[in-house]
Amino acid sequence: MSINLKSLIPVLNAEWTGSDTDIFVDHISIDSRSLQNGPQTLFIALSGANNDAHLYIAELIEKGVQNFAVQYIPENVKGKANFFVVKNTLKALQELAAYYRDLFDFPIIGLTGSNGKTIVKEWLNFLLSPDYNIIRSPKSYNSQVGVPLSVIAINEKHNLGIFEAGISTVNEMVNLEKIIKPNIGVLTNIGSAHDEGFENLTQKINEKLLLFKKSAVIIYQKNELVDKCLLDFSAQYPLENRALFSWSFADASADVFILKKETKNDSTTIKYQYKDEIFNLEIPFSDSASIENAISCLLVLLHFEYDFTIIQNRMEMLYPVEMRLEVKNGIHNCSLIDDSYSSDFQSLKIALDFLESQKKNASKAVILSDIFQSGFSNEELYSKVAQLISDNKINRVIGIGTTISSFQDKFPNSTMFQNTAAFIAEIENLNFNNETILIKGARSFQFEEIVSLLEEKTHETVLEINLDAINHNLNYFKSKLADDVKIMVMVKAFGYGNGGLEIAKLLEHNKVNYLGVAFADEGISLKNGGIKLPIMVLNPESTSFPSIIQYKLEPEIYSIKGLNAFLKIAREKNLKDFPIHIKVDTGMHRLGFEDNTIDELIATLKGNSTVRVQSILSHLATSDDPKHFDFVEKQISLFERLSSKLISELNINPIRHILNTSGISNFPDAQYNMVRLGIGLYGVSNDPAEQKYLENVGTLKSIISQVRTIPAGDSVGYGRRFMADKETKIATIPIGYADGISRLWGNQIGFVTIKNQKAYIVGSVCMDMLMVDVSHIDCKEGDSVIIFGESPTVIEMAEALKTIPYEIMTSISQRVKRVFFR
Ligand SMILES: *Cc1c(COP(=O)(O)O)cnc(C)c1O
Repeated sequence: MSINLKSLIPVLNAEWTGSDTDIFVDHISIDSRSLQNGPQTLFIALSGANNDAHLYIAELIEKGVQNFAVQYIPENVKGKANFFVVKNTLKALQELAAYYRDLFDFPIIGLTGSNGKTIVKEWLNFLLSPDYNIIRSPKSYNSQVGVPLSVIAINEKHNLGIFEAGISTVNEMVNLEKIIKPNIGVLTNIGSAHDEGFENLTQKINEKLLLFKKSAVIIYQKNELVDKCLLDFSAQYPLENRALFSWSFADASADVFILKKETKNDSTTIKYQYKDEIFNLEIPFSDSASIENAISCLLVLLHFEYDFTIIQNRMEMLYPVEMRLEVKNGIHNCSLIDDSYSSDFQSLKIALDFLESQKKNASKAVILSDIFQSGFSNEELYSKVAQLISDNKINRVIGIGTTISSFQDKFPNSTMFQNTAAFIAEIENLNFNNETILIKGARSFQFEEIVSLLEEKTHETVLEINLDAINHNLNYFKSKLADDVKIMVMVKAFGYGNGGLEIAKLLEHNKVNYLGVAFADEGISLKNGGIKLPIMVLNPESTSFPSIIQYKLEPEIYSIKGLNAFLKIAREKNLKDFPIHIKVDTGMHRLGFEDNTIDELIATLKGNSTVRVQSILSHLATSDDPKHFDFVEKQISLFERLSSKLISELNINPIRHILNTSGISNFPDAQYNMVRLGIGLYGVSNDPAEQKYLENVGTLKSIISQVRTIPAGDSVGYGRRFMADKETKIATIPIGYADGISRLWGNQIGFVTIKNQKAYIVGSVCMDMLMVDVSHIDCKEGDSVIIFGESPTVIEMAEALKTIPYEIMTSISQRVKRVFFR
């Protein structure tokens, strides 16, 4: 794309300040951290409750960005760049995209629905790609921000678009419709997702249909409610010759009537009737969601008038869609970003941004296959890819495929292979070592083989950490903070069991202000991992003071004795203004200066230039318990008095902070200058009413090692604590109390989830294994098992085990591999 900025002034209804020559941009960015920002970028400074991109404009100008859309021009950058000043930058992004969309008039498929959008989109892309140059939303970019960014990636060579639109409440679809303006509308499954945003199902359907105002055909699963909504919709938004194209399992009046579906092993034969003829179609899936998604694709192909044999041949090859970018531990201390199923240009940009945010090693490598359907000529495409690689400061490139190999001269420091097998034959000689490696290739290159060779092997139990959920939860709590209130995130105990360094990286990327750890060595490993954020150490032992100083960690000081010990070492090292944090005890009675030691503290600190009081803090004992809220109020007022005294007598201006997660929710007036977020970030609230706003972060998964059926009267496990009263099917799962699963969870108290069904633990939990009753579940060896996550939740487990979620989360042993994804 290339847009003349001058032409946008009327489109965005903007005021323009800056040089008045014509300027062209070819990249729209909203992410200040992306290494892809440059002179040809128009940076749109979005400003939300959580983050104001206007704050990063000065930094961006230094990096060479010259053109901005802003809501105001910050003082420090006036006159230093070109600015569109608009009322609302999100609106401006959307209006720009809508304008840009109108420059093209090839067919566009618009997908909406509660489930299945992304899969149907990916499958349609696969099914139609032999015949079209397709532009589609990358990953699941379907939001108010994701949709405009997807559409702006259209170029002149594309001749078919597939975009998905996701909404969570009313009045959102109008914006997305203007941007996508699909000629072909597909309504995928209408489930119950996001119901909280709507009064009822009718309202939800009506809102979704708004995507199809200009659609000449609407594809959907026939049912009474949707039919009724469509009738109202057509009356309200009439369009000449609009066709409704429906399918159904039950209603023979649908255009495509599914007569029968027969599932065998992992495939399904679908018998359908279309225009009075009967056809059979086989797809390599057996679950009902995949069958519905495949039928939606079938209708699109029928609408495009594909021949029935082509439909059959292509649909046979449908594949599971991997929607996430996963971070995995690699061999020789590498980390891997696994994006081994797609290779379009647009998703390469996203993956490179993700690589930058997640890199654990200074050195970055990319393993990349030939790229298909870019819409560019090969020459142009690989020049663009080479530019991206260089903008992103990638240290080495490994290209696999005949096309990318032929452009090797564009890639400095690259190694090229004709195919995946040739690469695998050489893998030992490539010395992968302390690198963060992005592995990105088209399906046909089977890069999953590369991932499995480069991945560190551990046993099958993993704790999957959803980084997007962490982001979501962070934003939720940020939105509760008054302007200018800083945020410290507690990453002690290995990020509450979820992974220390990875989460710290994410938080640094998201510009939190501080990290908090319990002990110095936790802080040291974060600093060694490259974390630059300031880190407060809650419980520094005096033996660790020298390393605290060496690693520029910031100690919490909670006693005169500790203060003197720290001062002694600090003076020996001739330190000046070393930041320390003063903890006062306001009622928790764990650590901290008590009321009667404050005078001595003041006397010791007065006139002292060795250390500087960076912050004053205290900790609440009962911020989660309404019964004791009056106690919290007492703690807060004592904190106010003690901290004010320190401030006035020492004439200092420190950060003050007292709130933990529950405090943020329950005591908004005590935010002072900073809060300390802990458990909430990891998706757990102590308040059931608040829980629904948080997203689950950790899912502990394992697999079935063995399945057996035992007769009535037999027992299971040590001590014969389970006796079968009837024939019972038992599955063994390789996770036990040594992994952190309490023995109290055994003996039919606790359960796991297999194929969306509960399976209760029978007998006692062993050290490395447990057994569950799967009599009612159709399952086999190797099937996936959820130990906790969406169900059971750690909250449910904690209740049954008479403890708190904190203990469950932090008990998961380090031998359980953590896998991060978004
Ligand atoms: C752990 C901790 C927090 C965070 O508490 P949550 O309840 O997890 O939010 C805050 N402050 C201190 C001093 C802590 O030790």
